[in-house]
Amino acid sequence: MANTNENRKALLISPELCIGCRGCQTACKNWNQLSSEKTKNSGTYQNPPDLAPTAYNIIRYSEVPSESNPVRWLFVSRRCMHCGDAGCMKICPAPGALYKTKEGAVAADRDKCIGCKLCVAGCPFNVPRYDSSNKISKCTLCSDRIAEGLSPACAQTCPTGAIRFGDRNELLASAKKAGYSKVYGEADLTGLGTLYAFKDAPKIYGMDENPAIPESVIFWHNVLKPLSVIGLGGAVAGALLHYAVIGPHKDDEEVKKS
Ligand code: SF4
Ligand code: SF4
Ligand code: SF4
Repeated sequence: MANTNENRKALLISPELCIGCRGCQTACKNWNQLSSEKTKNSGTYQNPPDLAPTAYNIIRYSEVPSESNPVRWLFVSRRCMHCGDAGCMKICPAPGALYKTKEGAVAADRDKCIGCKLCVAGCPFNVPRYDSSNKISKCTLCSDRIAEGLSPACAQTCPTGAIRFGDRNELLASAKKAGYSKVYGEADLTGLGTLYAFKDAPKIYGMDENPAIPESVIFWHNVLKPLSVIGLGGAVAGALLHYAVIGPHKDDEEVKKS
């Protein structure tokens, strides 16, 4: 079988090296011309609190108990994982709205996005967000920069090397050489384009240990989507997909009673 990860580009995140400066967040906003949003302090230094149409990359701040200090700070960059087997692409009913670049990034064509939001249900990492035009908005792995031979803005800016960009196989080899026997994302979903070199268990960074595409999405992709593409039972397939992923329709009264 062909190695689909050959010649693939990736990011390697090393949380141990991150100092929480958020330079990567700012560089991403700057390059992608994303506005700033007013946020509220909710008792953490993390800001903004979550990914947003104007925040493709956030540093998640966590505090965990420590034996040597009152508390230990953990910082980790959260953004699109550029999955090899991408749930968002599996479920998307609009041809070409989500596509793979030749470097292996999962990019979006806003003009083809129909705003159905099904990719939210297909993503195991809760990444896709929607802008005010109801179009998908997420990290593109800076495909425009990569195409010009540049590194992604976040990796270019990071002052500590906590975000590195390069050939995926070479990044994996360097992480292994540095003593990380298991790299998060090496094999998950046929390999992620955002890899993590964790010294601790991924879950203390808020990462899912076994990310998987929902069964309903796989069923849609393998069984129902081909029917709708060839024009047989498209409406039925769409209704079944909606039922499988979103559930039965409830009106306001039913919601209030439940
Ligand atoms: S992380 Fe989510 S949005 Fe990004 S490629 Fe994977 S499934 Fe798609
Ligand atoms: S790769 Fe580009 S779009 Fe993605 S988080 Fe980094 S700067 Fe933002
Ligand atoms: S720029 Fe680098 S060190 Fe600063 S917050 Fe981002 S990943 Fe961490």
